[in-house]
Amino acid sequence: MAKVFVIDVAKCTGCHNCQLACKDEHCGNDWTPYAAPQPMTGQFWCRVEEHVRGSIPKVKIHYIPKICNHCDNAPCMAAAQDGAVYRREDGLVIIDPEKAAGQRRIAEACPYGVVYVNEKLDLPQKCTGCAHLLDHGAALPRCVDACPTDAMLFGEEAELRDLIDGATVLAPETGARPRVHYRNVPGFFIGGTVYDPDKEEVLEGASCRLQSGGKTWLATADEFGDFWFLDLPAGVFDLAVDRKGYRTRAFAGIETGAGKSVNLGDIALESL
Ligand code: SF4
Ligand code: SF4
Ligand code: SF4
Repeated sequence: MAKVFVIDVAKCTGCHNCQLACKDEHCGNDWTPYAAPQPMTGQFWCRVEEHVRGSIPKVKIHYIPKICNHCDNAPCMAAAQDGAVYRREDGLVIIDPEKAAGQRRIAEACPYGVVYVNEKLDLPQKCTGCAHLLDHGAALPRCVDACPTDAMLFGEEAELRDLIDGATVLAPETGARPRVHYRNVPGFFIGGTVYDPDKEEVLEGASCRLQSGGKTWLATADEFGDFWFLDLPAGVFDLAVDRKGYRTRAFAGIETGAGKSVNLGDIALESL
C-alpha cells in the first residue's frame, strides 16, 4: 500500500524536533542498503524553513518542514543509471548508496533541492522515509514520531484521504507528483492601522474594501484600528478605507507575491 506524508503548517511551531530527530537517526549511522551515514554537517534530509511575512509590527511567521517528496513521477529516478534510484512498493523513493556512487546527476535532477552530495563518498543522499525503521516494525519515521504537535503525519494514502483532500504539494508545476502533502499553507496578507491624526485615536470600525481581478474582500478595523486581509493570492490589489465622517482613502496597485505580504502601516483619515 502507498504511504504519504501529510504536514499541517498551521500546527507546526517551528520547534525543529523533526530536523534534530532525522539527524540523530542518520548521522554516523550506516543504514546500508537504505542509506549511507549522513554527514554531521552540510546535509538536512529534514529541513524546517522559516517564512516571515509582512513588516514590524504586522508580521506573521510560519514554518515549512521539507523532506524528500517521494514523488510518483520522480525526476531523480529518471536521471539515475543502473537502477540507482528506485521506488518501493510502499511508494518510498530510495537512493541505493552503492549503485548511486558517482551519480551526481541524481542530485541535479531533483526539482526540490532535497538531494545532497556527500563529497567524501561522492554520493547523492536524501531522506529515505526511514524505510530501515519501517521494515523492522516501526510504525513511523523518526521525524514524524518526534513531532510534538502532530503537525507531521505518515500513513496509508487511503486512510489519510480526508486530510489530503484540500491540501497542496510544493511546486506542483514540476509534474513530479509529490507524496508529501501540505495543509493550511498561509497565503499573503495586506494589513494596516486606521487612525484620526487630529484626535490621535485609532478608528475602530473603519470599513476596508479590497479588490483585484473582479473579486472583492471586506474587512473592518478592530479596537486597535487594525485591519487584516489574510490568505490572499499573489496579485495586484486596490484598497479603499472608509469611515462615516471621514474622507475615504484609496490605495492602488498594492502587490503581493514572491513571498511578499504588505503592511501598509498607519493610515490617517481626514475628518470631514
Ligand atoms: S523530491 Fe526530489 S529526490 Fe525526492 S523523489 Fe522527488 S525528485 Fe526524487
Ligand atoms: S523520514 Fe526519516 S530520513 Fe526522512 S526526513 Fe524523516 S527522519 Fe529523516
Ligand atoms: S517537529 Fe513538528 S512542530 Fe516541530 S518543526 Fe517539525 S513539524 Fe513543526
